[in-house]
Amino acid sequence: MPALLRQLSGLGGCTHPIRLDGHRTEHAVNTRTGEIGNVLHHLGSADLPAGHLLVRCNNRRTTRCAACAEVYRRDTFHLITSGLRGGKGVPEQVAAHPRVFATFTAPGFGPVHNRPKGRARTVRPCRCGVVHDQEDTALGTPLNPDTYDYEAAVLWNAHAGALWRRFSTYVRREVAKRAGLTQRILPDYARVSFAKVAEYQKRGAVHFHAVIRIDGPDGGYTPPPAWATAELLTDAIRAAATAARVDGPVIDGRAHAFAFGRQLDVRTIRSADFDGDQELTERAVAAYIAKYATKGAETATGALDRPLKFIAELAQLDISDHARRMIRTAWTLGARKDLAELRLRAWAHMLGFRGHFSTKSRRYSTTLGALRTARAEWRRMQAAAEDDQTAQDVTLVLAHWVYAGTGLTDTEAWLAETLEPALGTEGEPTRG
Ligand SMILES: [Zn+2]
Ligand SMILES: [Zn+2]
Repeated sequence: MPALLRQLSGLGGCTHPIRLDGHRTEHAVNTRTGEIGNVLHHLGSADLPAGHLLVRCNNRRTTRCAACAEVYRRDTFHLITSGLRGGKGVPEQVAAHPRVFATFTAPGFGPVHNRPKGRARTVRPCRCGVVHDQEDTALGTPLNPDTYDYEAAVLWNAHAGALWRRFSTYVRREVAKRAGLTQRILPDYARVSFAKVAEYQKRGAVHFHAVIRIDGPDGGYTPPPAWATAELLTDAIRAAATAARVDGPVIDGRAHAFAFGRQLDVRTIRSADFDGDQELTERAVAAYIAKYATKGAETATGALDRPLKFIAELAQLDISDHARRMIRTAWTLGARKDLAELRLRAWAHMLGFRGHFSTKSRRYSTTLGALRTARAEWRRMQAAAEDDQTAQDVTLVLAHWVYAGTGLTDTEAWLAETLEPALGTEGEPTRG
């Protein structure tokens, strides 16, 4: 039992670990002759208390694995933070570069139940006459589902990634134009980098939150030119977001085209770590993006977080009529050969969106992979420090692992629950 508990505690609370069969052997190597010598360390799955090597699932979604999603959220927080104030290989000067936080929305597809704000932030009645409570499940759902443009809503999600790419090209062009440069020579003077995350609104439309930063020609390592201000960047973002347009398919004689909604919020990020009235701090931005990085479409679809195999599965799901209609529309459109590349059936559970949830440009900051490698390296060093034999010798590692399944047995799950949660949330604010 204690041995099994020790193995389980190594999972840090992961509830769907990957089970592997196989072994890992470390041999000493004679540095003069190159001969392979004694076995220094042997790890075989059969000798492990659980009968398998258990590896964290590393799923990003909170609904799939709360513990792994928490690790992902923290990594994303650090990734965004290092792009804002330096650290993890990013110079601290980036904090002085112009940075904004921008939110890009979807256009309207028909009136939905909402909470319009009156003067002094009072909530006025919705068009249906009701003053909706913040928790009201009707919020975001269409006033009239029969006239709501489900086809355009699903197709918008399916084109949102392409629209973002178009925007990211345009924003560089707009920055160049304002600096009196051509787009081609802009990289000799300045670089525009970003990190973005997708979020589902209650109505099931994807929108994007992004940190956008201007650096000098070598990214974060060089100061931006004097003309590069947060005002210029904001202005360029507005122009690029308005101009970005992606042509969609023609369906039953209707030509679809996609653009961002008129609501575009761009705010300068302040360095100071205080949260004044309208001040947007680095911590708040990083926490906000990190939170959405661990979510899928569940704001709109509840517990549905995996692809459907058959449309009939929809009947058994406890989801809103609106989500059901979005999914059904994606499924129906997914049968069309001319829309095959949108893979709408495979992505019906995501209401048509098949893009990455969080993406960043190469120069923004470190990568999630680098953070994971650093963590694994740190663990390895700790283990080596405990066992100085492996620290001195040159070793050869031979390993062979095969997939043996996923998850914990009932007993393991029960034991795992008795363990203290390994993860807290200290030092990283979460924001409502
Ligand atoms: Zn996990
Ligand atoms: Zn209403």
